[in-house]
Amino acid sequence: MSIYLYNTLTRHKEEFKPADAKNVRMYVCGPTVYDRPHLGNARSVVVYDVLYRLLRHVYGENHVNYVRNITDVDDKINAAAKANGEPISALTKRVEGWFHDDIAALNCLPPTNEPHATAHIAEMIAIIEKLIAGGHAYESAGHVLFRVESYKDYGRLSGRKLEELIAGSRVEVESYKENPGDFVLWKPSDAGDDPSSVFPSPWGAGRPGWHIECSAMSCKYLGDDFDIHGGGADLMFPHHENEIAQSRCSAPHSHFAKTWVHNGFLTVNGEKMSKSLGNFTTVKNVLDQGIRGEVIRFALLSSHYRSPLDWNEKLIHDAKKTLDGWYRVIKRYYDILNNQSFDNSELDNSEFRAALYDDLNLPLAISSMHIIATSANKIIDNQVAATSLFKLGKFLGLFSLTPDEWFKGNHVIYADTVNFIVNAPEFTAEVSVTNPKIDELVAERLEAKKSKNWARADEIRKMLSSQGIILEDRPDGTTDWRRE
Ligand SMILES: [Zn+2]
Repeated sequence: MSIYLYNTLTRHKEEFKPADAKNVRMYVCGPTVYDRPHLGNARSVVVYDVLYRLLRHVYGENHVNYVRNITDVDDKINAAAKANGEPISALTKRVEGWFHDDIAALNCLPPTNEPHATAHIAEMIAIIEKLIAGGHAYESAGHVLFRVESYKDYGRLSGRKLEELIAGSRVEVESYKENPGDFVLWKPSDAGDDPSSVFPSPWGAGRPGWHIECSAMSCKYLGDDFDIHGGGADLMFPHHENEIAQSRCSAPHSHFAKTWVHNGFLTVNGEKMSKSLGNFTTVKNVLDQGIRGEVIRFALLSSHYRSPLDWNEKLIHDAKKTLDGWYRVIKRYYDILNNQSFDNSELDNSEFRAALYDDLNLPLAISSMHIIATSANKIIDNQVAATSLFKLGKFLGLFSLTPDEWFKGNHVIYADTVNFIVNAPEFTAEVSVTNPKIDELVAERLEAKKSKNWARADEIRKMLSSQGIILEDRPDGTTDWRRE
């Protein structure tokens, strides 16, 4: 059984055949580290994380080389550091740390390689020199520019002609360009630029253009030809189009990436996310609302990766509700499930597997998990279904918590959000309702019920409920509890 992926370059869903099944190579454009990752960035990281997991499942954990770069030299970085009044290195280091923290909260696996642009300037210069020698680039007013007319397939990825691309996008019309579509490979530094963004080159001190960074790093870690190049649909033009032009012209016998995968846009409450609309949402913003990383991850995976995804209350609510239900299913057998070692090669549900193999059809894969969860709930002893659900969830990067952590919160990780204030007569000051305190109140309520003190039992239930703690009385007389 083969994986099929939609290839933007050919506009067809194609059978995926890596050039070397022992070394499957994927490059995905990583973050430009000047600001916290927003939900659109997170969607891209999570989608390619699932594709990475699927490739590892099919070809073996040690046979997939996933490269995701860090862009740590860029005009946006210079501008942000200047605006903050801090050195570039302080900004890029801090934001890279935020990026890693935020995507770790979404349970993403680290890529095989995570190269930094600033460590690959020599490779970029070497490509630029080749392009100049081949007549594909020229020096002008301290810049080096790529001559788009020298590459006949320019525009093939985005499916538009050069003239339309130039008319339809905001390319800089500069007097030093032969053609307005020509793009920067190297640009001169300005006086007063932070020295850590200034690099010597045959064309004077300056810094690389953004596009050449990805061409240099993909070539270094994956070779001139590799299997998959991924990124958000917003990067298709000009970034990816320019990567192809540079890479193919500097290595004329290469095809560069064979399969181009693009994930769809993310909107917030039906609108494009933008700082001016006030709906710009970072992963940290959502985590700070007390929404778990696993809920964010699941919400981001709930629609087809190529479709647009709207981030809204219902999406989060539905994701949380589904995961609550699934955690309830695995809770019954958790001790057994957690002690089993699962072989990554076992995706034993054929519907789930077929859906993922078919261009990563996650909505269909998730619906097969709903069917399993429903059948697990119908039969009291259904360990087989719970095991299957657990395995598939683990495969998707879910079930990272124990059911107890899931339902009873984790006031270590979420200290700032699970700091409830109890408005109860016995508490005179603000206190957080810790799990031991809840256990104590639940035990007191059981005692109250035994001694038929219904008023006190009811008072405790109401008090806990007002803090988002739900009690579940069991037929055997015990009571379990969970946070909303
Ligand atoms: Zn890139």
